[in-house]
Amino acid sequence: MNTQSNVCIIGAGVAGGALAAYLARNGMQVSIIERNLSEQDRIVGELLQPGGVEQLRLMGLDHLIGGIDAAPVKGYALFKQDQHFNVNYPVETGKEITGYGFRNGKFVQNIRAEILQSPNVKVIKGRALDLVEENGRVIGVQYEDEEGAVHTEKALLTIACDGSASRFREKISHNKNKINGYFVGLVLKDAELPYAGHGHVIVAEPAPVLVYPISSRETRVLIDFPGEQAPRKGPELKEYLLNQVLPQMPAQIQPSLRAAVEEGDIKMMPNCYMPANPRRQSGAVLLGDSLNMRHPLTGGGMTVAFTDVHRLGQHLLACKTADVQAYDEAVERFYAARHTNTATINILADALYGVIRNPELSEACFTYLKKGGKFAEEPVAILSAVSRNFKLLMRHFFAVAIHGVRTSKQFSFKRSYKMIGDAVRIVHPLVMSEKPDPFTKMALQLAKRMF
Ligand SMILES: Cc1cc2nc3c(=O)[nH]c(=O)nc-3n(C[C@H](O)[C@H](O)[C@H](O)COP(=O)(O)OP(=O)(O)OC[C@H]3O[C@@H](n4cnc5c(N)ncnc54)[C@H](O)[C@@H]3O)c2cc1C
Repeated sequence: MNTQSNVCIIGAGVAGGALAAYLARNGMQVSIIERNLSEQDRIVGELLQPGGVEQLRLMGLDHLIGGIDAAPVKGYALFKQDQHFNVNYPVETGKEITGYGFRNGKFVQNIRAEILQSPNVKVIKGRALDLVEENGRVIGVQYEDEEGAVHTEKALLTIACDGSASRFREKISHNKNKINGYFVGLVLKDAELPYAGHGHVIVAEPAPVLVYPISSRETRVLIDFPGEQAPRKGPELKEYLLNQVLPQMPAQIQPSLRAAVEEGDIKMMPNCYMPANPRRQSGAVLLGDSLNMRHPLTGGGMTVAFTDVHRLGQHLLACKTADVQAYDEAVERFYAARHTNTATINILADALYGVIRNPELSEACFTYLKKGGKFAEEPVAILSAVSRNFKLLMRHFFAVAIHGVRTSKQFSFKRSYKMIGDAVRIVHPLVMSEKPDPFTKMALQLAKRMF
């Protein structure tokens, strides 16, 4: 048994690393266990929305985006067949709001460099194996070091930030992750984007494609493959990308996409959905993807993680004593209220994915946003997580369906009824898992019964 830290974090990724950095710079003793400290080449967590940048700034950690050739992102562009337009992120009191695209591995290494040089952080290279319990309370973590020796790291609070495939979720959550598709990722070199410094959403058939800058010379392309079955890497996939996906892409990027497909460095990741449903366990808490996941279409995962890191961090920093009860109460407060800041990001991600996959709602959404003004700016403010206004999100979501009914070329009551019903069926489960207020709950339940 070692000397006890205040908190022991499992996983020095986006959430765990940022939490360690935030707590340590505010004087807390932290130990953090990470199984692989080398730079990873991943296709996840590469576009940080402005709302996430703001959370980093509030924690004094926004410098971690520096020195990695991050590409500023100032808005989104939407493409559907031969039509396209862009919407910039909102401007706040004359100040332009910016998100950033970067290589996830480089960003995570910046976070790790910060904690490695902190006197308050003990970085342990090892694989966490199990939570250690005493009288029903988690008192630390059992881990295996590089030589295979097993140790125990004790702490007042253990924080599992071990990502989407968490091995600790089972013990401290009621939920399991649901795979609803895969993103196939490629990197374009020196591609000229139709809208420089923008995330591009291409409403392609059969599923959307995302394109955004991740450095001054690189562009990430993520191609959605719906369903539980991962596409098989090989000649068939290449053929599909070249013959089915490539012709639907903006002309400017087609040559670099062809080159990337032919080079063959194709990566794949599952897209999961998992609302937060933690099980109270004294001495332990979940954070990041181990707690909560949503579709990556809107690039909201890191923003949710940093919002949670900031909030939990504030509660923990307020625990002045080594009183374990105070840590449990801090966790309780965090779980009870986190949805007020993360619900809109979670709901929008899977609602927008559902809308894009529904031909009529997808058309309605495209023409609604194309109207511009508040019809585009307010939804993009929610997407960027600059606004976390739940009512505004609901208003625009249902306004899209009503707009679809109004502008439908072949109006019929049956089609209109179906369109509104589809919208209700998409959003109902998403809202219900985010602790809605009693009125919203009742209204949605009623709508579900009607449609
Ligand atoms: C295809 C895809 C694209 C995405 N794109 C975006 C995007 O553009 N923008 C965005 O904001 N979000 C995006 N996300 C979501 C985002 O990547 C995650 O929300 C974010 O990375 C979560 O951070 P985390 O710290 O929980 O997990 P991770 O960043 O995965 O970190 C987990 C860490 O835990 C370590 N670990 C795991 N098990 C153990 C163990 N037993 N012992 C010790 N260490 C362990 C791992 O090595 C890792 O370092 C995307 C997700 C997917 C699937």
